[in-house]
Amino acid sequence: MFEKVLIANRGEVALRIHRACREMGIRTVAVHSEADANAMHVRLADEAVCIGPARSSDSYLNKSAIISAALITGADAIHPGFGFLSENADFAEMVEEHGITFIGPTAEQMRLMGDKITARQAAIKAGLPVTPGSPALESVEHAIEWAHKIGYPVIVKAKDGGGGKGMKTAFNDEEMREAFTMAKAEAKASFPSDVVYMEKYLQKPRHIEMQILADKYGHVVHLGERDCSIQRKNQKVIEESPSPALNQQQRHEIGEIVRKAIEQIGYTNAGTLEFLYEDGKFYFLEMNTRLQVEHPITEAVSGIDIVREQIRIASGAELGYTQSDIKFSGHAIECRINAENPETFTPCPGKITEWHAPGGLGVRVDSEIYSGYSIPPFYDSMIAKLIVHGKTRNSALMRLRRALEEFVIEGVQTTIPLHQEIISQPEFIDGQYNIHWLEHYMESRKK
Ligand code: ADP
Repeated sequence: MFEKVLIANRGEVALRIHRACREMGIRTVAVHSEADANAMHVRLADEAVCIGPARSSDSYLNKSAIISAALITGADAIHPGFGFLSENADFAEMVEEHGITFIGPTAEQMRLMGDKITARQAAIKAGLPVTPGSPALESVEHAIEWAHKIGYPVIVKAKDGGGGKGMKTAFNDEEMREAFTMAKAEAKASFPSDVVYMEKYLQKPRHIEMQILADKYGHVVHLGERDCSIQRKNQKVIEESPSPALNQQQRHEIGEIVRKAIEQIGYTNAGTLEFLYEDGKFYFLEMNTRLQVEHPITEAVSGIDIVREQIRIASGAELGYTQSDIKFSGHAIECRINAENPETFTPCPGKITEWHAPGGLGVRVDSEIYSGYSIPPFYDSMIAKLIVHGKTRNSALMRLRRALEEFVIEGVQTTIPLHQEIISQPEFIDGQYNIHWLEHYMESRKK
């Protein structure tokens, strides 16, 4: 097992990884930007190294500074968390070239699954259902030709896309011209490549994803699904597990399809296969080759510490259990709490003057915040994840309502009022929502 792990991230995920390491008797190295010198992940780690100025491109995305920090401190592994370099295959390769273990899949697996076009091909080969789609699109004319083949509406996507960026829908040729140009421009600005392709656009799907774990010896398990359909601008706001839309049989069926596909692809470590789900059918969207923000709801219902498993798998340990050993219990819901204006979603960095996190049975808060902490304006605005677990969906909902009421965050605006509003809507309470529900609801409320 590793003796020392460097955590190449910040915020709550850096703390999350630190916690798993400590419980495994592993020492931790935090890295931080100049703006994060007082951050909780720095305060808790055994050692800390400043890797550059505030801007992420100068610090948390600075591959050589991070690898130098690992070499100087003698870390034998690097956990990338999510965001930043977590899906950067070149970084994973560089880490391994320096004799350090990258806690995640191999660079080759990341390249295959990180590119939406090759991932779709691999998925088809491995027996996963996908939406009808095109190859890389060369021109507007080429795009229109494919849109006619697939049938409108379609969605144009960047092959390297992520975070909901670089996606444009088109319902006819005219919209297609604009969608193609805009998606390409957005991709060029945000991603390594401006190559785009298209998929059939589903009009009322749910977003349901499957968590998997795979060791280096071909053992694969799935940890059930997460329903992440409560979204705004293609970004997740609330997630729950299990999905209110699936029954035991459907869960088992998609679980087995996913497990076999992962075995066939030969993927290792933790990963998530995202699907759209409409009219009883699943369509593979993409694979995230890393830990996900919403992993704690799966931990709550499966009892498995996913970060611990990532570290064990990377160190060469066997899973040590099979699918039939995994027992799901109860229902879990996560709210992503952002320091943002809850109406306009404008980020609201600043000083936290008072902080009181909820507690009690079945309540988990993952956050880097403490009273007196100043949220820097340079990074993501998520400041806490509230996760509740209950025996049934209804008891989880009641607990969530109670926990949100208890949360005190002063000094900055947060999205807590929005969460309170969402979870009291009849559609949410009944589990009757799709990926467009939240935006439609917010729109209708304005009128
Ligand atoms: P990203 O990598 O940027 O997160 P994804 O491909 O995972 O992009 O898609 C993010 C979200 O965009 C989905 O959860 C869904 O809401 C919407 N979306 C993506 N593809 C489609 C599609 N073919 N039809 C309808 N909605 C889609």
